[in-house]
Amino acid sequence: RGDPRLKAISDALSVVPNFPKPGIMFQDITTLVSNHKVFKHTVDIFVDRYRDMGISVVAGVEARGFIFAPPIALAIGAKFIPLRKPGKLPGSIQMQPKSQFYQVDEIMNLCCPGEVISEAYELEYGNDCLEMHVGAVEQGERALIIDDLVATGGTLSAAIRLLEREGAEVVECACVIGLPEVKGRRLLDGKPLYVLVEPR
Ligand code: AMP
Repeated sequence: RGDPRLKAISDALSVVPNFPKPGIMFQDITTLVSNHKVFKHTVDIFVDRYRDMGISVVAGVEARGFIFAPPIALAIGAKFIPLRKPGKLPGSIQMQPKSQFYQVDEIMNLCCPGEVISEAYELEYGNDCLEMHVGAVEQGERALIIDDLVATGGTLSAAIRLLEREGAEVVECACVIGLPEVKGRRLLDGKPLYVLVEPR
């Protein structure tokens, strides 16, 4: 915790009040990632922690988890998989009207739908959902889940359920920022949770 890089990370974040709606203090990581030195510190801390943990999958949560997960995956020699909002993963082929002119074997070649599984979670107002491709992980693979921020933990819980449904072992969830809601919490649904900084 005495690591001076953590102070640099904290200092590089910005807070945007009342975004995207009144009452929300939005923790903005764009000012962190546009600072090359601090972005590199952030990735390096995660890479140092995870490089020797036998992790073969780094799952990033849409959208800001997609910024941090790929450089970590590349550096530790793991694959990156996206956990996406509903309807974004290529799932099944959209049959266009002209498809009636395709030969059956052409259609068979076109139709290799990436099957998708979903997990819903609650937000402050309403629900949302995350999706993952079936076959994105293999049975027993060791996975790390990355997002920019954890507040209630609902999003990460859905991510854990997706990976476990497909037989992966979730080693840890990691975020740059942990909001006070999550303060002192070392576990999330029984999985270790690692955060770098809390908002000032
Ligand atoms: P939660 O499911 O409550 O842990 O919320 C975490 C998810 O919502 C993450 O994907 C965050 O990017 C986003 N999020 C929630 N609250 C904030 C906030 N105050 N600032 C920025 N992102 C937030």
